[in-house]
Amino acid sequence: MSKKKGKKDYFEIKWKTDLKYRYSIGKLAVKFFEELKKNKKILGSKCPKCNKVHFPPRAVCAECLVEMTIDDMVELPPKGTLAGFTVINYPFTDPSTGGIRPFPYGYALFKLDGADTYTMHFINETDISKMKIGQRVEAVFSEKLKGDFTADIPYFRIIKKEG
Ligand SMILES: [Zn+2]
Repeated sequence: MSKKKGKKDYFEIKWKTDLKYRYSIGKLAVKFFEELKKNKKILGSKCPKCNKVHFPPRAVCAECLVEMTIDDMVELPPKGTLAGFTVINYPFTDPSTGGIRPFPYGYALFKLDGADTYTMHFINETDISKMKIGQRVEAVFSEKLKGDFTADIPYFRIIKKEG
């Protein structure tokens, strides 16, 4: 409602809105979160036509558009290989809390072993000189699992020496 002419004329109203809503996440996502919470398992979905393994699981294969069901879900190990990374050095609103996420923090692109698609998640490294494409990464699970990917696996860590 105000014109932005100069700093003196700038008019701003700040508020936070709390919207409660529910939506259906689909059968594959329900199975994914249940297995994560109950059995600490990471599931992807394997296309019955082209055998492409999607992680996160998808209801439809992006390659051949075949629908997948929970019978097409496969367990994936909590380890993968780094394909890209960055370090975030500026304030950013964390959608899970609505607050500013502490920074800097690392963010990685990787493939879980056995998956054909890439995923992104936080990583426990903020020194970019210590990260390399091809490094092995591993999920770090929370003590108490609640069926929330970011809460249950807050980050992946770089495996220094795989044994
Ligand atoms: Zn397919």
